[in-house]
Amino acid sequence: MTQNKEPLSNTAHRYKFGLVSLVGRTNVGKSTLLNRIIGEKISIISPKVQTTRASIRGIKTTDLAQIIFLDTPGFFLNPRTKLDQKLASSAREGLLQVDLILFMIIPQEAMSDENVTIIKEIRDSKIPAILLINKIDTIQREKLLPIMAEYSRKNLFLDIYPISALHGDNVEALENGIVSQLPEGELHYDPEIVSTANLRFICSEIIREKVYEFTHQEIPYAAAIRIENFVESESLTRIEATIYVEKESQKGIVIGHKAEMIKRIGTNARQEIEQLLESQVFLDLRVKVKKKWRSNEQFLKQLGL
Ligand code: GDP
Ligand code: MG
Repeated sequence: MTQNKEPLSNTAHRYKFGLVSLVGRTNVGKSTLLNRIIGEKISIISPKVQTTRASIRGIKTTDLAQIIFLDTPGFFLNPRTKLDQKLASSAREGLLQVDLILFMIIPQEAMSDENVTIIKEIRDSKIPAILLINKIDTIQREKLLPIMAEYSRKNLFLDIYPISALHGDNVEALENGIVSQLPEGELHYDPEIVSTANLRFICSEIIREKVYEFTHQEIPYAAAIRIENFVESESLTRIEATIYVEKESQKGIVIGHKAEMIKRIGTNARQEIEQLLESQVFLDLRVKVKKKWRSNEQFLKQLGL
């Protein structure tokens, strides 16, 4: 396997460039892996399901390759709302445009119905695929072998990597494996860039993450964040954002007793955004009710979903 640190002048290795799609059920650890490989917080992580709403690109640039990752949303077998339908179709589009598919599963549900569906889609797509068995820190080694054997028999995956995205086990080997499967190509993005998702979007994701983290209620999937204003100056970034919820009762929860909850969300989000922007931030949050926003096509468009 190739070394990461070889000089560019070594003509034995032509530079590689490719798009890699990370697919798999929600909560298997896709965002965790991306964050580990790319090393910056580009995609929010939450123990609750279905947090990644849009496909965020992460870019990994080494001396040997530039890899564009698509963190596609989980597959939805029965999309009910317009939002779910959009997510499902963008996940499928992710399958159709890439050079390599990484399919992530966890040992506890290796052959679930959802996984069987995804396997069929991967086969139909005819795109090269690698299987990732994540969270190997949660099971005994003996339990892993039958899963690997069963997947090998499918004759679909170029390779199988048991990994722990959380602890980093086998992740470097996986990175090398990905590079070896990519086509030759030029660098497309400045090596300094880790994500093309714009700052506004990343900030809205940070705010949404804090809503999740602190409300512990029915709020998460009912909340949408819209950045109304984002003004950067040399010493201060002013951000105005609205947290949209679906019901008055949810608005009450997000604001909290004596506005304690909204203050907590705001303070924590601001601190994290300040780290990201390396600038002082003034964050102005408000909460509004927008009934059934998840099925409102126009509103979803405004949010960029
Ligand atoms: P996604 O929905 O596929 O993007 O999953 P996330 O990356 O958001 O991870 C879901 C949960 O699984 C989080 O609580 C992670 O900390 C956890 N997780 C991810 N990878 C591992 C792993 O290798 N081992 C363990 N024990 N937990 C993990
Ligand atoms: Mg995710």
